[in-house]
Amino acid sequence: MNILVINAGSSSFKFSLFGVEDDTVMASGVVERIGLRNTQLIYGNFRGDEIKTKAEVADTSQAIAAVMSLLMDEELGVIRSKEEISAIGHRVVHGGEKIKSSALITSKVKRIIEDCFELAPLHNPPNMAGITACEANFPGTPQAAVFDTAFHTTLPDHAYLYGLPYDLYRKDKIRKYGFHGTSHQYVCLVAAEQLKQPIEELRLISCHLGNGCSITAVEEGKSIDTSMGFTPLEGLIMGTRCGELDPAIVFYLMEHKNLNSGQIGELLNKQSGLLGLAGVGSSDLRDILAAGKKGKQQADTAIQAFVYRIKKYIGAYTAAMGGLNAIVFTAGIGENSALIREMVCSGLEGLGIVLDPDKNARFDGKSCCVESDKSKVGVLVIPTNEERAIALQTLELLRK
Ligand code: ADP
Repeated sequence: MNILVINAGSSSFKFSLFGVEDDTVMASGVVERIGLRNTQLIYGNFRGDEIKTKAEVADTSQAIAAVMSLLMDEELGVIRSKEEISAIGHRVVHGGEKIKSSALITSKVKRIIEDCFELAPLHNPPNMAGITACEANFPGTPQAAVFDTAFHTTLPDHAYLYGLPYDLYRKDKIRKYGFHGTSHQYVCLVAAEQLKQPIEELRLISCHLGNGCSITAVEEGKSIDTSMGFTPLEGLIMGTRCGELDPAIVFYLMEHKNLNSGQIGELLNKQSGLLGLAGVGSSDLRDILAAGKKGKQQADTAIQAFVYRIKKYIGAYTAAMGGLNAIVFTAGIGENSALIREMVCSGLEGLGIVLDPDKNARFDGKSCCVESDKSKVGVLVIPTNEERAIALQTLELLRK
């Protein structure tokens, strides 16, 4: 049985074909710059064949056609016909308050995704376009939507409400939603397996540190607080996003810098975070670390600010849960930067967190524990795998 996992964005279309029996990725890739010049298709299969080609792809439907012709290609392909795809799992960013778990696509689910267009204008419309294009291309094949927000629908009202007039929540749906839910849920489940303890008995903090960064408190398997908010702009300092901010800075920018809302959005989403703080012309942590090593003080300060905020959240979430059993690091930075893990954990001995520097430095891509024997709290590095999580959730829905 094979499940096609799709992440349809505004200008890119990512896909993975999962073989359920062997739990392997048979082929995966991305169509980049859809609808623009120089559309590029990158594709690889489990035999190790890889190609990067130019393609004429104007929209999502054409992206699917291009991907299908590679998946069924005589030489590079991994299946002979569309019928070998048993189901399709779509990543959908926003499900609002109503969608509490992944769901098979029905007209009601599609209406809810559309109702969330205004909450996620950059993501939900292309996600929906992926669903519609697959319905046309694969009539009769079951499709599921796996929502970034669903895992966080367990947040209690005291955690999701902002200190705003209540009607802005009631009528305008302004509240904390949280994102990266599929990743946080996945790594916490793997952490519980690794710790050989039921997730229902654990208090975990998962740190998803990639280009986008978020941190979640997970108690008894449920998200009880998370750093991203109404949008993915809140919370930690990220690659190019500022994270939490005094909202009065926005009025100040309007009045004193004469910026309009579009310009402020661009500034806070695309020119801030590590990119804006470090001043090395890159949001890639590797470049910033390298600049710091060469003595650029501003780059060092940016890294300190990035780490300091993560530490503050760990303290806050430990307090919110009344204790902590383990911290999980995941995503590009969380998995690959032993230094950032070390900096985050240093000074947290008072919370029972003690890292083993050797184990921490030796992480080789497989889930593992890197705390010292003296540590009361587990410290785990767990590679996230949102595509596998989407495939597994789609499979679960099929079997219900
Ligand atoms: P996305 O959020 O786009 O999925 P990733 O999870 O791939 O992003 O994470 C990208 C980030 O991971 C980049 O900031 C990159 O610098 C960082 N990263 C990847 N490898 C390393 C490494 N070896 N050391 C430090 N940072 C790394």
